[in-house]
Amino acid sequence: MTQLGASGLVLNEKLLFEHSDPGRKGYSLSALDVPEASLPDELCRDEISGFPELSEVDVVRHFTRLSTWNYGVDSGFYPLGSCTMKYNPKVNEVAARMPGLVDVHPATPQHLTQGTLGLMYHLQEALAEISGFAAVTVQPAAGAHGELAGMLTIRAWHEARGNARSKVLIPDTAHGTNPATASLAGYDVVPIASNGGVLSVAEVEAHMDDDVAALMVTNPNTLGLFETNIEEICKVVHERGGLVYCDGANLNALMGIARPGDMGIDVMHFNLHKTFSTPHGGGGPGSGPVGVVAELIPFLPKPFVVQDGDDYRLDDDRPQSIGRLLAFNGNFGIMLRAYAYIRSMGAAGLRHASEIAVLNANYIRARLEGTYDLPYKNRSLHEVVFSDKDLEGGCHTLDVAKRLIDYGYHPPTIYFPLVVRGAIMIEPTETESQEILDEFCEAMIAIAGEARDNPDLLHDAPQLPRVRRLDETTAARKPKLKWKEG
Ligand SMILES: *Cc1c(COP(=O)(O)O)cnc(C)c1O
Repeated sequence: MTQLGASGLVLNEKLLFEHSDPGRKGYSLSALDVPEASLPDELCRDEISGFPELSEVDVVRHFTRLSTWNYGVDSGFYPLGSCTMKYNPKVNEVAARMPGLVDVHPATPQHLTQGTLGLMYHLQEALAEISGFAAVTVQPAAGAHGELAGMLTIRAWHEARGNARSKVLIPDTAHGTNPATASLAGYDVVPIASNGGVLSVAEVEAHMDDDVAALMVTNPNTLGLFETNIEEICKVVHERGGLVYCDGANLNALMGIARPGDMGIDVMHFNLHKTFSTPHGGGGPGSGPVGVVAELIPFLPKPFVVQDGDDYRLDDDRPQSIGRLLAFNGNFGIMLRAYAYIRSMGAAGLRHASEIAVLNANYIRARLEGTYDLPYKNRSLHEVVFSDKDLEGGCHTLDVAKRLIDYGYHPPTIYFPLVVRGAIMIEPTETESQEILDEFCEAMIAIAGEARDNPDLLHDAPQLPRVRRLDETTAARKPKLKWKEG
């Protein structure tokens, strides 16, 4: 029977079965328990209709032309704060395309996938070493997915002690996904205020009671600042029986220098696609491993990659686990790149990458302070947040972002974090040279001058790219999702 998937892919079960070797379980669809005629006949199309017919040459030219309209880290400076546009060594891409790694089906029996399981295991170990946690799972498929895994783990730990709690404290400098995650995990979110850009012990103490399951803190926070009171804050939370969750997406400012596990934090997720290379954007792809202290290990998602003598295996026998979060075992291509990155950089290289990320952000802070309002003066870590308060000519953050496109740059993150009105959040990649940072800063300074002398240059920007300024409201409310009507 021939079935057409949503992608138009012709899936011929008979062919698949004929080509698979019945003696080697795990290579055929039968190993996935897909019954032979799994789709009712009336749902299966007989033929593909209405597909455009184009020659290969036309298709190649179409996509090649479109690709030249794109802007990415390989085209130029990409200072998108919070998203960490990391250096992505090309050798990682070579590793990620190796046929022996790309062609492994997730249902392949474990004795045939010792190499990939071993890589996952050693990545878990490397991340545990870098972060100071007792164990790390690599299952979650994004940062926010890691947050959910971590918060459900916290929930399971409390419940196993017969002590279900209902609240999670979240500072105003947290990433936007944090309150969404806490709420999805069934908690009431209690927002708490930062003071001078960081969280104070007194603020946590004032909100900490016996119904608080956890404090969920982004560190370094979304202002690009290190939470200097974190050790004492962890003590306060622990004294009242709570746990501390750290959003570790910004670990690229700390790796090789300080370990969240040593600061008293109980659970943290990593963003492999930010801190440990992998090109990303537009919502994916991602990988969000989670590290925990020893007491929380039994509750982590299953299966969990373990080492048994010389063998690696997926341990499913974990009665207290929060269960599976994915059909399979995580986003392997990203784990592979992260592993290649960690091994090729080594301990000293990782530390150097953090140091340069921090240096670059501070360089931009120092060069633009005075031209742009800097609401928090503390030394930056990996990113720096300005505001549009001092801009003249009725110009705002959006105008600066659009004008930067005319200067050939990808705009920074804007209007986030919410604690800064008109935020301009700049995160320079650690591999950018001083020349590039200078050129970018000079463009930013020139734009502030244009706002004063000729503000329409900003209001009408961008002038140069193929797409001029969008009507952002209509684009958000009535998006055109089809390339052609009908
Ligand atoms: C990117 C980011 C997240 C979310 O990660 P995704 O992989 O996009 O789900 C969470 N917290 C912080 C601080 C981030 O920068």
